[in-house]
Amino acid sequence: MIAQLKNTATPTEIEMLVSWLEKKGVKVTPIHGEYCTILGLVGDTTKIDIDVLESMSIVEAVKRISEPFKAANRKFHPEDTVVDIGGVKLGGGNFAIIAGPCSVESEEQIITTAKAVKAAGATLLRGGAFKPRTSPYDFQGLKEEGLKLLLEAKKETGLPIVTEIMAIHHLPLFEDIDCIQVGARNMQNFELLKALGKTNKPVLLKRGMCATMKELLMSAEYIMSEGNPNVILCERGIRTYETYTRNTFDLSAIPMLKELTHLPVVADPSHATGRASLIRPMAMSATAAGCDGLEIEVHPNPNEAMSDGAQSLKPEQFVEVVEAVNRVRSIL
Ligand code: PEP
Ligand code: MN
Repeated sequence: MIAQLKNTATPTEIEMLVSWLEKKGVKVTPIHGEYCTILGLVGDTTKIDIDVLESMSIVEAVKRISEPFKAANRKFHPEDTVVDIGGVKLGGGNFAIIAGPCSVESEEQIITTAKAVKAAGATLLRGGAFKPRTSPYDFQGLKEEGLKLLLEAKKETGLPIVTEIMAIHHLPLFEDIDCIQVGARNMQNFELLKALGKTNKPVLLKRGMCATMKELLMSAEYIMSEGNPNVILCERGIRTYETYTRNTFDLSAIPMLKELTHLPVVADPSHATGRASLIRPMAMSATAAGCDGLEIEVHPNPNEAMSDGAQSLKPEQFVEVVEAVNRVRSIL
């Protein structure tokens, strides 16, 4: 961390600041220039509140040199992390497609979809049992029954399950679930993240719709700092002023995150665009941008879906998307 001091700072004020910083446990190296003094701070700077330091009357500006995320940082862990979801690997060159309906609606719906997405090449089955809906009057998911149906679909197809958790107290219900999804709306539910950090379950952490990449990485840090290294990040679009698409797919987040972190990065073109017609081009683009996997919503009859029908693919459309993605991968 570097602190630039105002040129009005007196030697006594500088001395007082240096001793305040040293008491926080960092080593301070002052550089006295012609016009101002710069303090170089090394060591564990996490104890220093950057806003407090910046608000001090003799401080002009403060800059953090190292990122605040450590466990997720590629600098300290250059090799890609590979996350194993019930035998399906993701990251480090292992590509996985997570597919299934937005919501689990019935036994027939989830089993038909599971068989169809497996036949098309998906290796993981998704489906929401606990649904975060904007309106409390909309379908909220089949809850425990939904989880049971997902496990039945797993028995039928062998596909490991990815499904969203909304509350800490539901955690015991997820015992047999292979990968727990934290949705965009819960990306900063820190108590939930800490609780997931105490398990060793793979966690698919989706980017909040108004979250920066740094905030996403800090949320991953919450899980990892509790001892769970099995985190997969998901870019699912962010909110902008655009209205033709449900969100704005931040394609650049994929290579940016891959530079910053060793964690696998998955892209979700379904929630990112909200439109079935855009899934194929965006899935291809995300693959070309270097994602480690895709999460795509598929429904046997999108027009009748209880949630996210407009962005859900019919099984035959999903087949085409997988073929297109595989063509991109073969070029890469
Ligand atoms: C979902 O995956 O169904 C979902 C609700 O996604 P998000 O949290 O990204 O909106
Ligand atoms: Mn959905």
